[in-house]
Amino acid sequence: MSVKERLSNLQEQINDVCNRCDRDISSVQIVAVTKYVSIETTAKALDAGLIHIGENRTEGASRKWEELGDRGVWHFIGSLQTRKVKQIIGKYEYLHSLDRLSLAKEVDKRLEDGQVMKCFVQVNVSGEESKSGLSPEEVIPFIKDLEPYKHIKVVGLMTMAPFYDDPELTRPIFRKLRNIRDEVQSLELDHAPCKELSMGMSNDFTVAIEEGATFIRIGSALVGKE
Ligand SMILES: *Cc1c(COP(=O)(O)O)cnc(C)c1O
Repeated sequence: MSVKERLSNLQEQINDVCNRCDRDISSVQIVAVTKYVSIETTAKALDAGLIHIGENRTEGASRKWEELGDRGVWHFIGSLQTRKVKQIIGKYEYLHSLDRLSLAKEVDKRLEDGQVMKCFVQVNVSGEESKSGLSPEEVIPFIKDLEPYKHIKVVGLMTMAPFYDDPELTRPIFRKLRNIRDEVQSLELDHAPCKELSMGMSNDFTVAIEEGATFIRIGSALVGKE
């Protein structure tokens, strides 16, 4: 199946879920995760009309960005070492994996006046050891601590659910993230509007949308694996 066909299947599924839970389809953005695929396939995703491109490695993505950078909006979705921050500056508009102050500090330091990095604070809701992110209790104090970093804007929260054969089992995780998001939002912090929820991947995005996802990160179901 071509990327175009997969996209139209995906859009149909998103449409169905949105109808079912009475959400506006335009409130769900697709981030096409191209970490498994070539420059050519990434170009096909852009040709198909996808705008948001997600990558998780600075190395793999740099050539892609050189060739295709100006055609999309780039999202860094993987864990980011502090010493690699300079490689994403000026290229990526969104960082989905903000999980420590040292990272915020480095991003902040490298941005110039008037520039901001739109960040998702990554939360390890499930508590799985293999997953990065803050524990739910740490989120609010962490976000409050980000206030001095003028180039950091907390646009939302991100999580990865464990892989389950039955995606329904991810629901409590997504719901919990939404509840934390609501709590952050109610603080009305200037640096943390925190409206967005980056959650849901190929196997569990329908549940994530039902629970309020505004950015779903889709790799294998959309661009495949090469
Ligand atoms: C790889 C990856 C995805 C996409 O995974 P699929 O299951 O292929 O859709 C989404 N989010 C993150 C953080 C990833 O690393």
